[in-house]
Amino acid sequence: MLIDHLNQQLRERAAAGLRRQRRTATSACAPQQQVQAGADAPSRALLGFCSNDYLGLANHPALIDALAEGARLYGAGSGASHLVSGHSRAHAVLEDLLAQWMEPAIPQARVLTFSTGYMANLALLTALGDERTTLFCDKRNHASLIDGARLARAAVQRYPHADLAALERQLQTCNTPLRLIVTDTVFSMDGDQADLPALLALAERHDAWLILDDAHGFGVLGPHGQGSLAQAGLRSERLILMGTLGKAAGIGGAFVAAHPVIIDWLVQTARSYVFTTAASPALAHALQTSLQLIAGDEGHQRRALLRQRIAQLRSGLQTLIDAHPHLAWTLAPSDTAIQPLIVGDNARALALSAALDAHDLWITAIRPPTVPPGTARLRIALSAAHSASDVQRLLAALHTIALQWT
Ligand SMILES: *Cc1c(COP(=O)(O)O)cnc(C)c1O
Repeated sequence: MLIDHLNQQLRERAAAGLRRQRRTATSACAPQQQVQAGADAPSRALLGFCSNDYLGLANHPALIDALAEGARLYGAGSGASHLVSGHSRAHAVLEDLLAQWMEPAIPQARVLTFSTGYMANLALLTALGDERTTLFCDKRNHASLIDGARLARAAVQRYPHADLAALERQLQTCNTPLRLIVTDTVFSMDGDQADLPALLALAERHDAWLILDDAHGFGVLGPHGQGSLAQAGLRSERLILMGTLGKAAGIGGAFVAAHPVIIDWLVQTARSYVFTTAASPALAHALQTSLQLIAGDEGHQRRALLRQRIAQLRSGLQTLIDAHPHLAWTLAPSDTAIQPLIVGDNARALALSAALDAHDLWITAIRPPTVPPGTARLRIALSAAHSASDVQRLLAALHTIALQWT
């Protein structure tokens, strides 16, 4: 019977330390958050290092006002899909603004917005990945890219993480007429960055196109927060960029920037664009304010603060690891806001997360299949909204736990 069958599998997951649980926040997204363990549990104040709100914009007063203004101007809901009647002026203006942002990297760039990054990646890979195409995918790509590749009719080749020599060998032996290289720019569970200049050079050499998922770069990297392409200083027609708007941009949604013909093709054929209700125009309206904040002085200041916190955390963690070598904790080589502390097995990662919880610190343990077996970790995510003393509090708690575990 179905319920028995599922119950059995749920028990197996729990025994393997793989059962996932939700917590309920009862206050806005911020480092200090009120959180319940369950519907009837009391609310506790936790200091969190889990959100992707890298610039601390999710709760920004200007965005809250812009959201309310957007709802007054355009209503709460879009009412239909973009191709029926749900495409509003708020969406159109947002697309034009984003296209201007991306034009320095992608000549003639045009932009299409989506409700989520997951849907944008499904759209890209299914609409472009036809039978004439091979998709070359980094093995650590985000789940939404993996699912998009599964749904596509294209041949799929996966290359070992960041192994561009392996990728080149695959490109050399490829015999489909079209080739797409697909990669995260900043890898979501490791925080490391793809070598974009080398990838673009490979794409040019082998007449391939490059699909980049900049979920963790957009808003954070580049001189004005335009993302990984601006940071790398690249410009090419071969670039297709997906950026999300629910992380650094603080609201929700996503976009694809690419050559106008690619955008037109997505509008005609991408099923996760065509067959879904357009995101609320109020969100698109508020996102325009979000872009202004990102590109303006406030964005500059917030990116500088974030860089300070990253440096503070990394040097503190390195000191901790050096002081407790027997724990065999390792710090991933990451320059970004994603700073994983790799502890190894699932039970250890869960125990560390639980021990931090006892210090009123909220950091999720990330376990397989999200990361490779044996590399369970705490994924520490920093935000410009964290203060230096927030980071200090985390380091002090880890130090106390490390001594207890000795
Ligand atoms: C979060 C994320 C996505 C999905 O974006 P959503 O807007 O949350 O659906 C896609 N790719 C990467 C790398 C991500 O981290």
